[in-house]
Amino acid sequence: MKRQQIVAGNWKMNNDLAEGKALAEAVAAQAPVAGVTLVLGTPYIHLSAVADILDGAAGIHLSAQNCHQEESGAYTGEISASMLKSVGAEYVILGHSERREYFGEDEALLAAKVDKALEHGLIPIFCCGEKLDIREAGTHVELVQKQLAGSVFHLSAEDFGKIVIAYEPVWAIGTGRTASPEQAQEMHAAIRKMIADKYGAEVAEATSILYGGSCKPSNAEELFSQPDVDGGLIGGASLKAEDFLAIAGSF
Ligand code: PEP
Repeated sequence: MKRQQIVAGNWKMNNDLAEGKALAEAVAAQAPVAGVTLVLGTPYIHLSAVADILDGAAGIHLSAQNCHQEESGAYTGEISASMLKSVGAEYVILGHSERREYFGEDEALLAAKVDKALEHGLIPIFCCGEKLDIREAGTHVELVQKQLAGSVFHLSAEDFGKIVIAYEPVWAIGTGRTASPEQAQEMHAAIRKMIADKYGAEVAEATSILYGGSCKPSNAEELFSQPDVDGGLIGGASLKAEDFLAIAGSF
């Protein structure tokens, strides 16, 4: 079975509404990209407007960058999974290293967010990956195993089959420093093996594992040519439609 190839943009806290709409329009104008699922991860306030722009177009989907783990209630300033669903989001990025680092999101909290997202029919793009000290200590595979065990390996095989994994070495995010294709492949293959050990080869073979970390038009092709790299989660380069589309055209 051919795995789904996905290029997902993570706009982070960038673009006012007019800029975000213009970016979404520029990407949507070129969609679909043959064989590639495009995902736009916008700030919360852009979701509804970008949903109108995408308007169910083939091959391009809407994502949030976070959601709260509770159903609803007195959580001032927070956004629930059902709210995201109601404005047209289909995906939600969870476990991004910036959420772990700046907002203290730990494995148990992320497990609850993953559960809540799935309960409402959102597809989690679950991020994992090590910081530089862990990479230098050579314990990156163990760390990623722990992140997956703590937040997604409690899922049933059926639910696990719905999620997307993004391997994002933290030392490569926004730094201009990219994992080499060999480093990416090594970790993606290790992650696929972890999934196979937990859920069996069929589920592992069907899971899309994206690479994230300074992926850009100049390096996307060699990263995506690796057998276990099924696309990318793109930060900085997703803010320019032409770069994002060039990455999507790199398979
Ligand atoms: C990210 O934050 O998910 C990311 C991959 O960022 P960048 O592409 O800017 O390194």
